[in-house]
Amino acid sequence: MFNRMQSLQMQGVHCFQYKSFRAVIAIHNTFLGPALGGCRCLHYSNENLAFDDAMRLARGMSYKAALANVPHGGGKAVILLPKEDFDRNELFHWFGDCVELLKGQYITAMDAGTQVGDMDRIAERTDYVASASNIGDPAPYTAAGVFKGIEAALQFRLQQELLNSSVAVQGLGHVGLKLVEMLINAGAKVIAADPDTVKCQQANKLGADIVSTEQIVAQPVDVFSPCALGGAINADTLPLLNCTVIAGSANNQLASDDMGSALFEKGILYAPDYVINSGGLIYAASRYHHDEETLYLNKINSIGDTLIQLFEVADKEQQAVEKIADKTAQTILAGEPLIANKANARAASTTSEQEVHHAA
Ligand code: NAD
Repeated sequence: MFNRMQSLQMQGVHCFQYKSFRAVIAIHNTFLGPALGGCRCLHYSNENLAFDDAMRLARGMSYKAALANVPHGGGKAVILLPKEDFDRNELFHWFGDCVELLKGQYITAMDAGTQVGDMDRIAERTDYVASASNIGDPAPYTAAGVFKGIEAALQFRLQQELLNSSVAVQGLGHVGLKLVEMLINAGAKVIAADPDTVKCQQANKLGADIVSTEQIVAQPVDVFSPCALGGAINADTLPLLNCTVIAGSANNQLASDDMGSALFEKGILYAPDYVINSGGLIYAASRYHHDEETLYLNKINSIGDTLIQLFEVADKEQQAVEKIADKTAQTILAGEPLIANKANARAASTTSEQEVHHAA
């Protein structure tokens, strides 16, 4: 466990248990501020997978916040879904108590397997929750950031506008459908796919052509936009790709570390997932801090500029873009490690506490 923590440069991993309830809260780094990240509630076939998921995702959140200029570190919680019957309200009240014990080092939010109602239960026990029902849906803001990222990538690689460019959108959920609408309004030709026929009909009404979920990856388009599940770029799909740019909202789009280099060698420009999909995090963090709307809108609008900077460095150094993004995030986080930055972390945590109490 300690070796794995060391290899991911984790700050701390907190374990909690009560009756059949088990949870892990992984905190990657609090140099930029208290750790912020979602809470998953899923079945795990063994505990190690749960620990690994929490730690890997917490590191991803640190990198995302660092490149999005969000004053937070990265954290992630995993609740191991109990095998036997349980009271969901009791589970999330208990989890709220666990979050409260960390006194603001970690702020939780919604993620796979959790719903707004669960966040509301947590909020009955702690102020350190950033996606209760009063905060709103971050997906349209995620879509807005992806839209900016697609514009930037098209401009950088093809010197072309969205008007008359072609985009294949994989997945028409909360983010994908909104993105389709924005792309069509900007004059792009959109092809889309989702196993859900109702969502396909909605996209078709907006003006998208629909293809099957098997066909979407191979469409001859300027941009392939994965907005469904992780692992869209893998050994099976790589040879099928017929695009110049990959830019979408899905987390963990590259199924393995070697996929980024493979895309680079194929001449496909990849917009790193945690950079292009940071609009939702920017929105949630800003709402948590009661920031002005212009502040988060400006940050979301600058996602394209951040990507251009990464593309330029990647081109200059002839490296895969996500390697440059990782290095940039690591540099931002490198400052002085934990001990010297305790004061910084404590100050950030105190600020958010004051803001929350002020609001209450
Ligand atoms: P969602 O669950 O609302 O939508 C996902 C959609 O993908 C569903 O409509 C589903 O039917 C579809 N899908 C599943 N398998 C598919 C396949 N093989 N081909 C095509 N479509 C398929 O999720 P969402 O909130 O829209 O998020 C989409 C992705 O973006 C996820 O990976 C999520 O982790 C990531 N993301 C979302 C946000 C956000 O603000 N919602 C923020 C950051 C990252």
